[in-house]
Amino acid sequence: MKLARVLVAGQARWGIVAEDRITLLSAAPWQDPQPLGGSIPLLEAQLLPPAEPTKIVCVGLNYRAHAQEMGKDLPSEPLLFLKSPQALLSPGGTVILPPDSQQVEHEGELALVVAKPAKNVKVEEALTYVLGYTCLDDVTARDIQRREKVYARAKGYDTFCPVGPFLETDIADPQNLTLTLKVNGEVRQKGSTSDMIFTVAEVVAFISRIMTLQPGDLISTGTPPGVGPLRPGDAVEVIIPEVGTLTHGVATFSQVGLD
Ligand code: MG
Repeated sequence: MKLARVLVAGQARWGIVAEDRITLLSAAPWQDPQPLGGSIPLLEAQLLPPAEPTKIVCVGLNYRAHAQEMGKDLPSEPLLFLKSPQALLSPGGTVILPPDSQQVEHEGELALVVAKPAKNVKVEEALTYVLGYTCLDDVTARDIQRREKVYARAKGYDTFCPVGPFLETDIADPQNLTLTLKVNGEVRQKGSTSDMIFTVAEVVAFISRIMTLQPGDLISTGTPPGVGPLRPGDAVEVIIPEVGTLTHGVATFSQVGLD
């Protein structure tokens, strides 16, 4: 099943995507929702991030080839950092390049949304806490990341977390997905989730030992190799065929009237 979150008459609603329509639901998927009795055409839908996170937990360096391209040793445990929920960007939105960075880069990733409260869960049970999977771009100010030990600033600017377009709930094996990131139609990143150092189940279990995961929380699982620069006017696609294609644009502060 494909889930989406949409803006309808100024209100955020969850819905089920079937063919070219979205059937609206009365509540979030983890709140035992009922169909509202209405549907809207997918093409006219104003999509929102398919998550309602109290926190966005990300894994750094979870693909060997990406650790190598960054010149970093392989981590012996998942390397975690947080992005602010304020960084969320809807599908089709525009990443705003902050003037304090000269090197903002894309990191296409498989992300997941949590289905129910998770604390100290076992690896073998961890996937039962996953509601579904989606595409995410872990946008990173690389120059700031290099000179600061903590990633809060480099990863945390508003709009630095495009996510969507849908949440696919029927993925039996999240370690067998292909992820491609294109910029202006050109493939920049391509990888298989089979190359992850820590599996999705291991990541969920590990995080749940540290912080209680809540329904709607978003976890991003790291990026394959090929990260590279984003420039004003770029059109980015993060493609996981089972999920869909997340698109976003790129603009400067001045282009959107922020300075
Ligand atoms: Mg990343």
